[in-house]
Amino acid sequence: MPPHKDLYELMGVARTASQDEIRKAYLKLAHKYHPDKTGGDKAAETKLKEINGAYDILKNPDKRAQYDRFGSMDGQGPGGGFGADSFGGTGFEAPFEDFFDMLFGQGGRRKAGPRSRPGNDLEFQISLTLEEVSTGAKKKVSFNRMELCGGCQGSGAAPGSRAETCPQCAGSGQVRAAHGFFSVTRTCGHCHGVGQVITKPCRDCSGAGQIKTRREISVDVPRGIDAGARLRVTGEGEPGSGNGPRGDLYLLIAIEPHPVFTRAGVDIRCQLPVTFPQAALGDTVSAPTLHGLEELKVPAGAQTGTEVHLRGHGLPDLRGLRQGDLVVTLIVETPTKLNRRQKELLKELGEISEKSNHPLHETFRERLRKMKS
Ligand SMILES: [Zn+2]
Ligand SMILES: [Zn+2]
Repeated sequence: MPPHKDLYELMGVARTASQDEIRKAYLKLAHKYHPDKTGGDKAAETKLKEINGAYDILKNPDKRAQYDRFGSMDGQGPGGGFGADSFGGTGFEAPFEDFFDMLFGQGGRRKAGPRSRPGNDLEFQISLTLEEVSTGAKKKVSFNRMELCGGCQGSGAAPGSRAETCPQCAGSGQVRAAHGFFSVTRTCGHCHGVGQVITKPCRDCSGAGQIKTRREISVDVPRGIDAGARLRVTGEGEPGSGNGPRGDLYLLIAIEPHPVFTRAGVDIRCQLPVTFPQAALGDTVSAPTLHGLEELKVPAGAQTGTEVHLRGHGLPDLRGLRQGDLVVTLIVETPTKLNRRQKELLKELGEISEKSNHPLHETFRERLRKMKS
């Protein structure tokens, strides 16, 4: 049994290729190795079967992801030494399909029927400021996605020509094959279940039936959303084929760093420097919030690290049940570059200070005494 080839290599595409690139590569190869072209050459026939098998996996994002995870299916996967070739002479359209059905059950295969496939989902990241998280936002999102080609109305066939009924399945998209005593129905490998094949591809889309188009939509982002959340916008993904529905668009939320605030769940935090006299005597100062300045009371005797809450000036939670606080951490700034008068006053302050003015200092001295005895 020869070691199985890498499916991406077989298709001549990168592992990172888009679904569209894979589809295009397939159309090219299928054209090149078509029996009409090769005059029934055996090697070409085998090659075409391999390509069909590879495309069966790679065209389906679920199967592709599973294939990517299990590597090249050369015996390292959970199937254990059971590469596609070990299916022997059952023909090639089926083994991959069967392989996945065995591994993952029927759920691994979408039975949309001929001519109808749901479109691929798309995912993009969007960034929000904390201000936008606070109020909710209408965000414009522009992205590239596939649209049905106008030149061929999505059929992929050149104008004036038509997709022809697949000769192998007579348009049903399914073929029956004998497995010993059993007869098994499976997706037609020639047309991949579409039921039709394109003989003259449309020039605009090279037969793909779809063209990359810029799309801009406006999305309501709810208040209180957090980084890492995924917003689903139904029906804004890639178009399905046939009557298949469009895929969905997923927006992955990122939060931009803020110059002043950091987020801690529904609370937001910031540090606010205050002068030594303000901290000692107490004061009312202006503190920044997400929606302008607010009065903040610095308590007399505040220390560096003292936290003051501005209730309700944080963020809402997603369900709107709770509104967080703005938590301001005070930083007491020791005065620097003192002039003579300032130094005199501070010296005098030091001289008339009492033990009760500096409880921390006193506690520490108490501990030192215990250490010595
Ligand atoms: Zn077209
Ligand atoms: Zn067919």
